[in-house]
Amino acid sequence: MLEFEFDNRFIRELPGDPDAGPGIRQVHGAAWSSVQPTPVEAPLLFAHSAEMAARLGIDEADVATPEFAQVFGGNRLLDGMQPYAANYGGHQFGHWAGQLGDGRAITLGETIARPKGAPEGERWELQLKGAGPTPYSRSADGRAVMRSSIREFLCSEAMHHLGVPTTRALSLVATGEAVVRDMFYDGNARPEPGAVVCRVAPSFIRFGNFELPASRGEAALLRQLVEFTIDRDFPHLAGEGDGEALYAAWFGEVCERTAVLMGHWMRVGFVHGVMNTDNLSILGLTIDYGPYGWIDNYDPDWTPNTTDAQNRRYRFAQQPAVAYWNLGRLAGALSPLFDGVERLQDGLKRYVDAYTAADRSNTAGKLGLVECTEGDLALMQALQDLLVAAEADMTIFFRALADVDLSAPSPAPLQEAFYDDGKRRAAGPQLREWLDRYAARVAQDAWTAQQRRQRMQASNPRYVLRNYLAQQAIDRAERGDPGGVVELLEVMRRPYEDQPGREAYAQRRPDWARSRAGCSMLSCSS
Ligand code: AMP
Ligand code: MG
Repeated sequence: MLEFEFDNRFIRELPGDPDAGPGIRQVHGAAWSSVQPTPVEAPLLFAHSAEMAARLGIDEADVATPEFAQVFGGNRLLDGMQPYAANYGGHQFGHWAGQLGDGRAITLGETIARPKGAPEGERWELQLKGAGPTPYSRSADGRAVMRSSIREFLCSEAMHHLGVPTTRALSLVATGEAVVRDMFYDGNARPEPGAVVCRVAPSFIRFGNFELPASRGEAALLRQLVEFTIDRDFPHLAGEGDGEALYAAWFGEVCERTAVLMGHWMRVGFVHGVMNTDNLSILGLTIDYGPYGWIDNYDPDWTPNTTDAQNRRYRFAQQPAVAYWNLGRLAGALSPLFDGVERLQDGLKRYVDAYTAADRSNTAGKLGLVECTEGDLALMQALQDLLVAAEADMTIFFRALADVDLSAPSPAPLQEAFYDDGKRRAAGPQLREWLDRYAARVAQDAWTAQQRRQRMQASNPRYVLRNYLAQQAIDRAERGDPGGVVELLEVMRRPYEDQPGREAYAQRRPDWARSRAGCSMLSCSS
């Protein structure tokens, strides 16, 4: 039987909306609204994460029960669950958008999980995405389609296994209901299968949670939310004093965590696609998987999000700068709690320092160097320029670079990385030159070839959740077959290990996927 211990601090300690029910409204002076998930016709468990289930103390035997699909499809509440939608705002594509809130996310509660053998309980918020309308749904239906739910489910777990901070996913439940979507906003709406993902994180608080009360001059609520966040989600800061000093220590840590996150995204080639301030987690987790994508051929200007195709605000290389801009909005929101701007500026400086360190650590890790020096940044830049010109696959190239014998450097082990023979040949001489330069640099380090290789393989994954791989799993799922999702989840469990027999998952994007919807072009419609 499914049983959880709940301790719902967010709604117990923060003011809630006095109105109940799903009616669309502006909610002032409150951090959340009570709302019930809307039941679905035929909830059926499609996939689940065994690691996440174990972490939550859920028995595998209980996962297969109809009860599990009922609960995590939104049809049944367990004792102690107190569902609510959080109230927040955000800057979307650079502009203040006002109140947004959980339009289709409903938190069931904060569970205290005691997995077998763990001495202390862990707090995890259980949240359903796609479980029906909330007061924040605006004109939308509160539902989610199977394709976007699969993408969120798979990528949450893939990121976790890649060592990238992220919200997690417990389950993917097919609802048995259709959801109508116009995928490219071009008048071609069609019914698609619906799904509900149960996502899990210690906290789903975003920058936008602070921006909303600040924008409304609700200073008391703002302060309360800050105090709450520090107390629940940053308990280690308890020794940092109180008031401004404490808030400054906290903001500085948020900046640092965000920098670390950006470092990881840039290392693995992840493009979030919609880095609005409502989609940045206060814990520095990857959150809100929408039209994200993975870099195939290395292209710093690439974004998967067709909604952003014009300005490319959220393109790959821009992400660290956008995160900084978003932290600036958060600093602005917090400014009523500070006497001057100095401490907030110090926090932002921590971002710059931490990102600089992350970038250097990426360079060292990806190239297999003991430490990154100034000159190594130029070496990396030269390589990146080469990868663009030669149209080389980021993941394959860096992984294969570890196999180049630097005593007699040859590009042969890199062959699989190139998308275009002509461009590969044209870039050949520069690539040889670069490899010589690289070999000379590596020779300065005291590491053995084996040490260098190990370092590189720990930084450069063999497997990432390539867009076309996810799309193939979605195509099968839409025909009723969860096999593709299950297989992909399995491969992504060990992304840094060569997995014999699974070479197909590590290949270049095939030509057919270059311009297929879902493979290289995604929209916010989900
Ligand atoms: P996103 O771009 O996914 O971060 O969404 C921006 C806002 O729109 C958030 O407040 C979401 O909760 C809301 N939203 C997105 N899709 C839906 C939907 N199908 N139903 C209700 N609200 C939605
Ligand atoms: Mg969002």
